[in-house]
Amino acid sequence: MTKKERYKNVLNWFEANAESAETELNYNNNFELLVAVILSAQCTDKRVNLITPALFEVFPTPEVMMESSPEVIFEYIKSCSYPNNKSKSLYGMANKLVKDYNGVVPSEINSLLTLPGVGRKTANVILAVAFNKPAMPVDTHVFRVSNRIGLTNNSKSPLETEKELVKYIPQYLQNKAHHWLILHGRYICVARKPKCEKCGISKWCKYYIKSNIIDNNS
Ligand code: SF4
Repeated sequence: MTKKERYKNVLNWFEANAESAETELNYNNNFELLVAVILSAQCTDKRVNLITPALFEVFPTPEVMMESSPEVIFEYIKSCSYPNNKSKSLYGMANKLVKDYNGVVPSEINSLLTLPGVGRKTANVILAVAFNKPAMPVDTHVFRVSNRIGLTNNSKSPLETEKELVKYIPQYLQNKAHHWLILHGRYICVARKPKCEKCGISKWCKYYIKSNIIDNNS
């Protein structure tokens, strides 16, 4: 099977079978989305969704957040992972947003990358979810699942994975494909022991094909 065929089959399967593919983070506007995505690094969406209602109530805009302090923000996010760093990032992000972007979340990747706490993955999530621009944010799930399926060839970095995926996935499908791969990694192709027996794309999966050849020969 060529790589092109693998992509085609896998994407077709997801298109026909995947359930609604949207972010599981709760938010009401682009600022709230940005806050939630920054909090979600190394933390579950479930946990973030427990934290954000009170946080958004106290800090509804970047202008209000910048008048606060990392110490005060910390109190609202301390049940999240890395609350020290994240409270500093949120405070810094709100300041930069107000000072350089009139309090409006920018829609260009290079501008997003100037905000504290915003790396390439977060910036791509904002582009895809807030602005519906084609983007391929690579988190731990997308990275792992792409290597296992064989959409990437033992990629060594998220950037390598991103470049390979956007090369093969048509632009109009990239945002959907990003969610498909995340949800697949979260619920089926889990890190420790992938649930291959429940997986609809096993016949095109490099990992599955390889492990069955080994099993059949042993
Ligand atoms: Fe992951 Fe197994 Fe499905 Fe391959 S067959 S994508 S390893 S769950």
